[in-house]
Amino acid sequence: MSEPQSLPIVVRMQASDNVAIVANEGGLAVGTELPGGLVLVDRVPQGHKVALSAIAAGEPVLRYGVSIGKARQDIPAGAWVHERLLDMPSARALTGLPMATVQAAPAEALSGYTFEGYVNADGSVGTRNLLAITTTVQCVAGVLAVAVKRIEQDLLPHYPNVDGVVGLEHTYGCGVAIDAPGAEIPIRTLRHISLNPNFGGEVMVVSLGCEKLQPDRLLPAGSIPLQPDGLDLVCLQDAAHVGFESMIAHIVERAKHHLERLNARRRQTVPASKLVVGVQCGGSDAFSGVTANPAVGYMADLVVRAGGTIMFSENTEVRDAVEQLTARAANPAVAQDIIDQLGWYDDYLQRGRSDRSANTTPGNKAGGLSNIVEKAMGSIIKSGSSAIASVLPPGEKLAPDQTGLVFAATPASDFICGTLQLAAGMNLHVFTTGRGTPYGLAQCPVIKVATRTELARRWHDLMDFNAGRIADGECTVEEAGWALFRQLLAVASGEQTWAERWKLHNDLVLFNPAPIT
Ligand code: CA
Repeated sequence: MSEPQSLPIVVRMQASDNVAIVANEGGLAVGTELPGGLVLVDRVPQGHKVALSAIAAGEPVLRYGVSIGKARQDIPAGAWVHERLLDMPSARALTGLPMATVQAAPAEALSGYTFEGYVNADGSVGTRNLLAITTTVQCVAGVLAVAVKRIEQDLLPHYPNVDGVVGLEHTYGCGVAIDAPGAEIPIRTLRHISLNPNFGGEVMVVSLGCEKLQPDRLLPAGSIPLQPDGLDLVCLQDAAHVGFESMIAHIVERAKHHLERLNARRRQTVPASKLVVGVQCGGSDAFSGVTANPAVGYMADLVVRAGGTIMFSENTEVRDAVEQLTARAANPAVAQDIIDQLGWYDDYLQRGRSDRSANTTPGNKAGGLSNIVEKAMGSIIKSGSSAIASVLPPGEKLAPDQTGLVFAATPASDFICGTLQLAAGMNLHVFTTGRGTPYGLAQCPVIKVATRTELARRWHDLMDFNAGRIADGECTVEEAGWALFRQLLAVASGEQTWAERWKLHNDLVLFNPAPIT
């Protein structure tokens, strides 16, 4: 399947690093001579680390110019440095951090880049034209699924400008401590997802009737600014419903009104500043921080220079880089917001007797990532180099003027992070993966970026972009970043991603830190 690569390739991220990553497919055999003359004393798998010099017990192992742990024993030059040889450093305390000390030089504004999008009344822009049907509670999910199928079959052919119909199903709404601290997070998340720019300001709700999350709690008066005639609600327990078919007929009938309005919309040329891009990673490997995430970081800088919005997230994956984040904050107040969000999350993990080390998976380790420190350093690269302009708590929605680079504080779980970024107002999602995941969302296009050529080749009809070409020496990070930026504009204008083509849709998964009853 793969061509044998004759030349050994290792990637060192910073001149001060005492380890480098083996890039060759299949890894490198013991006895291999690296460029520069170092000879491997172990076989080193692809994506794993090799010691570039002897590292004595207790000395730091340096990658990305920072210590990812201390050597548990003497490690000879040319040895495989795997996670069992490392003691993980403890988390940096959230005190005495540098506050907005790095003032990024203002980058030159990018102008002239546009895409074709659906302009909403509130000024936001959709990249897709979808009818979304909001639900208050999981009880209605089965009925709604039947109704959605009926709408797809019977109605959608008459509304060719509508891209699809999406039931916003979830497991929240009843059997929950709805007044407990933290319960506001899942509730506001649902509220704000209903207002995602890809739904054109059309809000339609299906409720059961007796649930804890009542419609006026989910969407209180005034929360739907685009729909002045009030909440469009179908309540299944309404006495007017006689039998299942009458519920379906009612939902289908209400959907028609929204489809009429959505169908009248057309794409218009808008500036790239209307992009609201959520970036995250899932199934990371040691290449994530070498290829895909640096390319996404370069792309992120381009979006920010064009006046657009980039959200990066995943609390446990940025926690070990907290001092880099607070230093990069635009001002001390933003740095404090970062500390507040990560501090709240530390407490949340502690309540479950966990810490950030619960993040790494067996797949991460098999892919060469020794621990969360190494994973975090590779993860934050996808935020690029811009100043962090603001911080968004979980489930909140970006204000219209909240552009630039935003730290949207979310768990790192792929589905929860994606769900919270949808609530924030994301109209495009960029997702990097090294191990491979078929992740996709019904609500928003997901551009999947492979960290390695081998994965991009094997999953040729799932991966949208191959950043592995960077490690293969076929393109630079800059070139890949520009190519990704252009792909963003094409997908925002309607070009389908693989996940859209196959209709790969992960569930909405709400972040609910409050108790279940
Ligand atoms: Ca993730």
